[in-house]
Amino acid sequence: MTLSSLNWVSRFTDQTPGDAEKGGTSRQVPGACWSRVDPTPVPEPVLRLWSREMAVELGIEAGEGDVLGGSSLIKGMDPYAQRYGGHQFGNWAGQLGDGRAITLGEAETGEGVLELQLKGSGITPYSRFADGKAVLRSSIREFLCSEAMFHLGVPTTRALSLVTTGEDVIRDVMYDGRPAPETGAVVCRVAQSFLRFGSFQIHAMTGDFETLRKLVDFTVRHHFPGHRTDSDEALLEWLKQVADETARMIAHWMRVGFVHGVMNTDNMSIHGLTIDYGPYGWLEGYDRGWTPNTTDARTKRYRFGNQGRIGEWNFARLLESIGPLMSDPERLYEALDYYRESYQAHDRNVWAAKLGLGELRPEDEELISGLVSNLEMVETDMTILFRSLSNLSSPDVSQIEFAFYDPETIPAQEWAQWLSEWWQRVDGQPDLEGMRLANPKYVLRNWMAQLAIDAAEKGDYSVANELHEMLKAPYDEQPEHEGKWYQKRPEWARHRVGCSMLSCSS
Ligand code: AMP
Ligand code: MG
Repeated sequence: MTLSSLNWVSRFTDQTPGDAEKGGTSRQVPGACWSRVDPTPVPEPVLRLWSREMAVELGIEAGEGDVLGGSSLIKGMDPYAQRYGGHQFGNWAGQLGDGRAITLGEAETGEGVLELQLKGSGITPYSRFADGKAVLRSSIREFLCSEAMFHLGVPTTRALSLVTTGEDVIRDVMYDGRPAPETGAVVCRVAQSFLRFGSFQIHAMTGDFETLRKLVDFTVRHHFPGHRTDSDEALLEWLKQVADETARMIAHWMRVGFVHGVMNTDNMSIHGLTIDYGPYGWLEGYDRGWTPNTTDARTKRYRFGNQGRIGEWNFARLLESIGPLMSDPERLYEALDYYRESYQAHDRNVWAAKLGLGELRPEDEELISGLVSNLEMVETDMTILFRSLSNLSSPDVSQIEFAFYDPETIPAQEWAQWLSEWWQRVDGQPDLEGMRLANPKYVLRNWMAQLAIDAAEKGDYSVANELHEMLKAPYDEQPEHEGKWYQKRPEWARHRVGCSMLSCSS
């Protein structure tokens, strides 16, 4: 079985309004949810990374590099770029759309329809001033991280393949006026759909309530079984599900130490999936104020500790855009309240699971805030600290020492105090096995991705493959990987571009 034997359907282009023109140059496309456009063929497509798990889900064994690189199409595919808008860093940015992504088609797998989309396959009517292409470094980051997130149990879009194109792409990595050629690549990503909050916003913001209505009906009919759209009540029920899935996703990010970095409303999936892996990062030292995104360095709007609240802000923008379809839009506040409650509940579950507390008690609030305050006292590796707790045999500071960057400055007294409180709370018998399922041992640390990139840029994909394999079992001990990858950030990575700072220049 290959891509050509899949059962290709085209529900989205058949059932929602689209652009009358195919392809063409950048333009406004009022009244449309999509524009037909073919991927741009590339000189030398070579398949470099492949997700067997994703392929199995699709029901295929192998992929054709030329198709996954955008150089040829299969009968039944109906490629298009989606139109959407979005609030970027808090400001309405108007029409954005798939500027460098092209959906090849939707495949009926027997257990549901999945959309296959190429990222980096050339210009579309939504490319604006950019080239529609992607570089190897950001493609590796998307491929590895989305698969790692899946295996961590975090809702996410998936990656099937990474193909290099044999063509250079010019990028100014740090926007400092020093553009340089980089290897071009295309990732094929997969999800039930790539609809975003911004997909709905664009129609509401332009006053096109007819198209908005059609898109909402389509979305609920195909993606939210059991829901309806024919009354305020029904719309609210649907929105509450979106609220819950969004809150659940962000609580998972907080559990594993993931910072999305660009939580603009065009990067918020309607399915509560982590989407659009750009300048994301993973906490090394626990720090609620950290963001990897240099574009956001001043206000840190999308910092780790703000993600739950930004989810709420973004969800409010989605609610506003559904308002025009309701007879009593005031009722949308019910859905907003629901997000808040839902996030709180998921957040509590996360802490309970990470600390093996079972049912959370009111007095646990203090235990948790004490922990956070200890974690932020000196640079303390989040992943190692929680993993150490998950293997603790006695409430002894020596058992968590490995999590600290500087053995000289460990706040031993504060930790001794906290450990003994926690130990008492769990009656000296923490559910370590349960905790090990909430506290991963291996995550895609920023410097790990960078090592995979450095090697791949020299044509060596062994590091990327090694990480891909290891991150399929992030909760297992995997002692063979411990010495190399269960490690705090090495000093060389502290200030290196790509490790501690990332831009949107992908
Ligand atoms: P992002 O912040 O990466 O999600 O992208 C924001 C918007 O910019 C989306 O509409 C993207 O499609 C568009 N975009 C980003 N990079 C490119 C590129 N290289 N070519 C065309 N459009 C791009
Ligand atoms: Mg985006």
